[in-house]
Parts: sequence; structure tokens; C-alpha cells
Amino acid sequence: MFNLMNYMEVVVSGKLDKILKPMNICQCQKCRLDIQAIALNNLPPRYIVTEKGELYTKLQELEQQFEVDVQTQIVKAAMIVGKNNKHQNEEI
Ligand SMILES: [Zn+2]
Repeated sequence: MFNLMNYMEVVVSGKLDKILKPMNICQCQKCRLDIQAIALNNLPPRYIVTEKGELYTKLQELEQQFEVDVQTQIVKAAMIVGKNNKHQNEEI
């Protein structure tokens, strides 16, 4: 079984919690998805073909190469979303 995937998605969603936790911004599902969308739009997609079982090792290797970029983009995206989270205003 082979799969095509954008491993950047996996890296971003894997790092999201750790980076957002200490930040003082809304962390509802909508904001979290907005942050992921913005971060992923600013990061190059990295499509890889994986075979079941080898995914984990492959991701770990790749993750180290892009660690700093991913972190920077998530923080940037979180600040953008934190400033204009419109869904909260709609509820008031
Ligand atoms: Zn929110």
C-alpha cells in the first residue's frame, strides 16, 4: 500500500499544540484550522510517497530539515489569526 501525502501538513498539525499553548490567543477549532491554513499556504508543499510502516521514520527525518521554518510560520499565522478572529465578534 502506497500513499501520496503532503508531509508538511503532518508536521504543522503535529507542532501546533506545543506552539499555541503558551500563546495568549483563541484556540478553538476554527482558529486552529485558520492558523494551519495560513501556515501551510506560506510553506512549500512537500509531497512524498510513503509505504505503510515507513511513514514514521521518513517524517522524523524530514521534520528536522524544516523545523525552524515551520515553527516561524505557525507563530506568524497565530499572530494574524489572533488579531482578526472575526467569529468571536459574531457571537457577541
Ligand atoms: Zn477561535
